[in-house]
Amino acid sequence: MAALPRPRKRRPERRARPDPRARPVGNARAVTGEAAPVAVIGAGFSGTLVALQLARHLPPHRPILLCERSGAFGPGLAYTSGHPDHLLNVRAANMSPFPEAPSHFQDWLDRQPAGEAGQRHLAAPGSFASRALYGRYLGELLEAEVAACPGRLQRIHAQVTCLRPAEGGFALDFADGSTRFATACVLAIGNLPAAGTCTPLVRYDPWATTTTTGLRPDIPVLIIGTGLTMIDLAVEIFARGVPGPVVALSRHGLLPHAHAPAPACPPIAFSDTERRSALALLTRLRAEVAAQDGNWRGVVDAIRPMTQTLWQDMPLPERTRFLRHLRTFWDIHRHRMAPSVAAMVESMRQSGFLQVLRGRVLDIAEDGELAEVSWQPRRAATSRSLIVQRVIVATGVEKAVRTSDRLLRGLLDLGVARLDVLGMGLDVTAELRLLNARGRPVDGLWALGPIVRGVFWECTAVPDIRAQAVQVARAVAETLE
Ligand SMILES: Cc1cc2nc3c(=O)[nH]c(=O)nc-3n(C[C@H](O)[C@H](O)[C@H](O)COP(=O)(O)OP(=O)(O)OC[C@H]3O[C@@H](n4cnc5c(N)ncnc54)[C@H](O)[C@@H]3O)c2cc1C
Repeated sequence: MAALPRPRKRRPERRARPDPRARPVGNARAVTGEAAPVAVIGAGFSGTLVALQLARHLPPHRPILLCERSGAFGPGLAYTSGHPDHLLNVRAANMSPFPEAPSHFQDWLDRQPAGEAGQRHLAAPGSFASRALYGRYLGELLEAEVAACPGRLQRIHAQVTCLRPAEGGFALDFADGSTRFATACVLAIGNLPAAGTCTPLVRYDPWATTTTTGLRPDIPVLIIGTGLTMIDLAVEIFARGVPGPVVALSRHGLLPHAHAPAPACPPIAFSDTERRSALALLTRLRAEVAAQDGNWRGVVDAIRPMTQTLWQDMPLPERTRFLRHLRTFWDIHRHRMAPSVAAMVESMRQSGFLQVLRGRVLDIAEDGELAEVSWQPRRAATSRSLIVQRVIVATGVEKAVRTSDRLLRGLLDLGVARLDVLGMGLDVTAELRLLNARGRPVDGLWALGPIVRGVFWECTAVPDIRAQAVQVARAVAETLE
């Protein structure tokens, strides 16, 4: 997330204190004689998928604890939105959570009764379902697994505040003061909440239900960021009947492209020189697009299977360069909008409801019910100011290095985990085992999903996470054999 000037009147953030309940816990297997459980922390897409895969890969007597602080098991941050126009940005046919059953989600969709919320986007095969439907689908998968073997997969509605090594496994401390033991643990804590402290006028929580409520009809709203989250917000504000305008501001003022049919391109064989330089990679990609008559969608899709290795082959300074200069361009080509959403965006822009600016925010001064935002247009010498009723920060998920997340900070403080070299998330091995402060793999501890994106870069979308979930479940099963 790009650094932003702090709004004035910000309250000081509290520092996480060492957990006073931290105490050794005995091995539950020794105490009860039953198999000790495997714990999964977080029940968004990643945690849900790991739990389902663990249920397949572990012997039936091994309990699985799925811990989720929100109480919603399955949807996580991405698939909680109930708005019917918040659509998946991947075709339904590519959204199966199971690598070996590619049409699983599409088949489920086809069985849903006509007229369901979100169904209006399902006119043709290969179209884009609503994220709410996908969240419901994940919840149902989990429900079915729980019912199939009562007591084995346990959903625990609680926040894990501390995870610490204990004899034969880990102790999990919960926010309600209780502690459970697990013989192995998977961290699926996902997209970290923004570190900024919300005020009534400046919101760092773009996905919270109250972020777009209570808006006045006569004053603009500013959204910082012009990616898919901004588009969600603009669509939502428009649907609330707020006349706008919604002003979206980012460094380049670039919006995601739309999905469109594109012929598949052959895989690209990059040279060693290209693999070691962000600029050389870009030059090669441009040449490929030219050779494919401008079919950039085909080229971007062709390198999807190798983006993780391309990322890992790049030396650290090149990865940093990519993040600073090329990331925006990659994101708008790679994470594309559903065509019907793109049509909505176009119409909102044409009507003047959505206005896009290029530049950066210099200062936000809150004054009663309004905020004065001073901003610098790109390549302009002088700054300008905007009076808005709300500022919504939608610049992407938080970097782990900035987070105040209690569990994560505790893991780092205990030396059980360390950050990846870019500070984006947690450091793991290629097998997704957590690396401790000394760079050694921690026995019995894995992580997957967006929290390991610094190591793999492309590991936040369903096709990536579903593969990681199988990988982790197999590794846990092998370890416990
Ligand atoms: C808005 C949005 C839309 C997306 N749309 C698509 C799409 O269309 N297609 C696609 O392929 N990908 C999409 N993605 C990307 C991807 O699918 C998600 O990032 C993915 O769902 C990540 O899931 P997750 O479980 O790792 O993280 P999250 O969804 O963030 O879930 C993590 C969960 O862990 C819980 N948690 C965290 N800490 C604790 C704790 N200490 N104790 C207990 N619980 C805890 C949280 O409450 C949360 O529910 C989207 C992402 C976002 C943000």
